[in-house]
Amino acid sequence: MPTDRFGREIDYLRISLIDHCNLRCIYCMPLTGLRFAPSAELLTAAEIETVGRAAVAAGFRRVRLTGGEPTLRTDLVEIVSRLASVSGMGDIAMTTNGILLPQLAPDLKRAGLRRVNIHIDTLNPERVRQIMRWGDLARIWDGIRAAEAAGLTPLKLNTVVVRDYNDQDVVELAALTLERDWHVRFIELMPLGVDEAAAVARRQFVSNRDTRRRIEQALGALTPLASQNPSDESKNFRLPRARGVIGFISPVSEPYCGSCNRMRLTADGRFHLCLLNDDELDVKRAIRSGGGIPVVRDILLRAVTAKPVGHKLDRGESTERRDMYQLGG
Ligand code: SAM
Ligand code: SF4
Repeated sequence: MPTDRFGREIDYLRISLIDHCNLRCIYCMPLTGLRFAPSAELLTAAEIETVGRAAVAAGFRRVRLTGGEPTLRTDLVEIVSRLASVSGMGDIAMTTNGILLPQLAPDLKRAGLRRVNIHIDTLNPERVRQIMRWGDLARIWDGIRAAEAAGLTPLKLNTVVVRDYNDQDVVELAALTLERDWHVRFIELMPLGVDEAAAVARRQFVSNRDTRRRIEQALGALTPLASQNPSDESKNFRLPRARGVIGFISPVSEPYCGSCNRMRLTADGRFHLCLLNDDELDVKRAIRSGGGIPVVRDILLRAVTAKPVGHKLDRGESTERRDMYQLGG
């Protein structure tokens, strides 16, 4: 397994497929000033397969597709089946806002996608429109149902907690786990980029300590669950008599850089070494000038070696040259 300078084993590749999105969440995509990569700059399905094969050759075992919104890639099913054809690929998952899953979920499952994380910030339709802006609760909910029906499970829901928008709504979301075997995960806001989205993330931050307190006051004490994977960024708990799991992802108040196991690939073909830093290594140029799997594997291993020790949010520093929609979380 590839190991970086700090002894971390890196075996998980998050692949951003596209920087477009059909929503405009307030902490991720500003309404103006967006810069999308021209489609010729995006890695093709075949190029993504090459990176997948190189990643497995380097010792990676898991990939996650993300965006922007990955379901906007018209060749998404092909991308999944190409990655699923890579011998040694252990797990293919996807993070999505769910809106397009009703038409895609069965084909994605057949192509080899194992499971999805669906992003939903509140169960209140009006507040979905405020936070996820072009979002529509009924459509996201249909996406959740479609994922379950297609067997894209265990189903995880991702909620970003935003002060004065949905900090009240975490209780209703947490309560979903009482009847359902879902994982509902609360994510702390991270500031990326230099635009309004980053300003929202700084201004409306809610610590997961406060989110946990609010849930426990309403629904009872949370019991910690033993971690099944030391690199799981989510600290997991269960409510009394609940079927599902509640997770807290706290990159700001409790950084987990020391157990980071990730590498990221941007839609325009660069390895991005740490979500909250700007360092990148171009891989597209090597592929487009004829470099095959061994060349890509070597670039990936160099990227692993160059991973920074951690983020510097406590010093007010973050990613400046990319926004969250260009990196995929
Ligand atoms: N569009 C898909 C979605 O929303 O799930 C995939 C891409 S989105 C960038 C990936 C994840 O990042 C989402 O689960 C979202 O909740 C999270 N996210 C977006 N902006 C964030 C921010 N500023 N801080 C923390 N999490 C964020
Ligand atoms: Fe789109 Fe996901 Fe960003 Fe929301 S968080 S704007 S759904 S990419």
